[in-house]
Amino acid sequence: MRPVTRLLPSRVLAEALAAPIPLASKEGFVRQLLGWREFVRHVHCETDGFRGTATAHGIEPGAGDGGFERWRGESWPTRDSRVDGGASPSALGASAGLPPAYWGRRSGLACLDGVVADVWRDGWSHHITRLMVLANFATLLGVSPRELTDWFWVAYVDAFDWVVEPNVLAMGSFAVGELMTTKPYVCGAAYIHKMSDYCGGCAFDPKRDCPITPLYWAFMARHADVLASNPRVAGPVASLRKRGDAQRARDEQVLAVVRDALDRGNALAPGAFAAADDSVQGSTGSRKRSGPR
Ligand SMILES: Cc1cc2nc3c(=O)[nH]c(=O)nc-3n(C[C@H](O)[C@H](O)[C@H](O)COP(=O)(O)OP(=O)(O)OC[C@H]3O[C@@H](n4cnc5c(N)ncnc54)[C@H](O)[C@@H]3O)c2cc1C
Ligand code: SF4
Repeated sequence: MRPVTRLLPSRVLAEALAAPIPLASKEGFVRQLLGWREFVRHVHCETDGFRGTATAHGIEPGAGDGGFERWRGESWPTRDSRVDGGASPSALGASAGLPPAYWGRRSGLACLDGVVADVWRDGWSHHITRLMVLANFATLLGVSPRELTDWFWVAYVDAFDWVVEPNVLAMGSFAVGELMTTKPYVCGAAYIHKMSDYCGGCAFDPKRDCPITPLYWAFMARHADVLASNPRVAGPVASLRKRGDAQRARDEQVLAVVRDALDRGNALAPGAFAAADDSVQGSTGSRKRSGPR
C-alpha cells in the first residue's frame, strides 16, 4: 500500500459535506476548495508554473532572494543550483525592487508593518492580508512580480510551488494578465479600512492622507490603456478621468515619495507629502492645507 502523504481534497470535501453545519458554511468551504484550491493547482500543473505560457518572459536560472541582499548587504545563505528560479512574467512591466519594509524595516504604514511583523513571527497570514496588503502594496509600487514571489517563498511556512507561483504571480500581482484572474486585485485605503482594524492604529487617516489611495490611482493611470477594455475595472478607469490633472500629478508625486523613502528604508509619516500637496494647491489656487493629524 502506498503511504498517504497528502490530505486529498476529495476526502476533505466528503467530510465537510457530511458535517452537520449550515448549507451556507458548506458552500463557502466547497467554493474555496474546488473553486480556488483545485483551480489554482490545475493552472500550475497545466502551465508548469507559467513556464509553458507565452507570458513566461523567461525562466530565472536560480532562485531569487526577494530583495534580501539589498536589505542586508549579504547574499542569501543557501541556493540550490538544481532548481530553476521559476517563470518571470510581468504583464504590466513592473520591475522595481521589493522594499526592505517586507523584511521588517518600518514603513510607517500600520497595515503593511502589522502584516509583515505577523508573517515574520508566525510564517503565516490570512488570505486577505496576503492579497490585499502584501501583494496589493507591491503591485501598486510596481515591484517585480518575481521578486515578490521569491519573498513569499522565503516568508511563508505553507509555501509550496503550486500555491505560491499562481497565487502571487497570477492572482496577487497580475503578472500573467487575464490568464488566471479577470482583473488586478488592487485597492486603496477604503478597502483596507473596511476589511481590517489596522487603520485605527495608523498615523495616516484612510479617508484623508493615507498614501495607499493615491498609489491606487497612480496605478490605474499607469495602466489605463491596458485596463480600459477590462469590464471589471472599467469603472475605476472611468472615475480616473474625473480626477483632475492636479490630483493625478499629486498621485504620481506621492508614488515617487513612497518609493524613494521605502527604498532607502525610511519610514513614512504624515507630512511626507507636503510638497505634493503644495503643488496641487498651487495649481488649483486653494490655500487650504491638510496637515498631519
Ligand atoms: C499572494 C498569495 C499567496 C499565497 N500563498 C499561499 C501559500 O504559500 N500556500 C498556501 O497554501 N496558500 C497560499 N495562498 C492561498 C490562501 O491565502 C491560503 O491557502 C489561505 O490563506 C489559507 O487560509 P484558510 O485555511 O483560512 O483559507 P480558507 O479561506 O478557509 O479556505 C479554505 C481552504 O481553501 C484553500 N484555498 C482557498 N483559497 C486558495 C487559493 N487561492 N489557493 C490555494 N488554496 C486555496 C486552502 O486549502 C484553504 O485552507 C496564497 C494566496 C495569496 C493571495
Ligand atoms: S491608513 Fe492607510 S497605511 Fe494606515 S493602516 Fe489604513 S490603509 Fe494602511
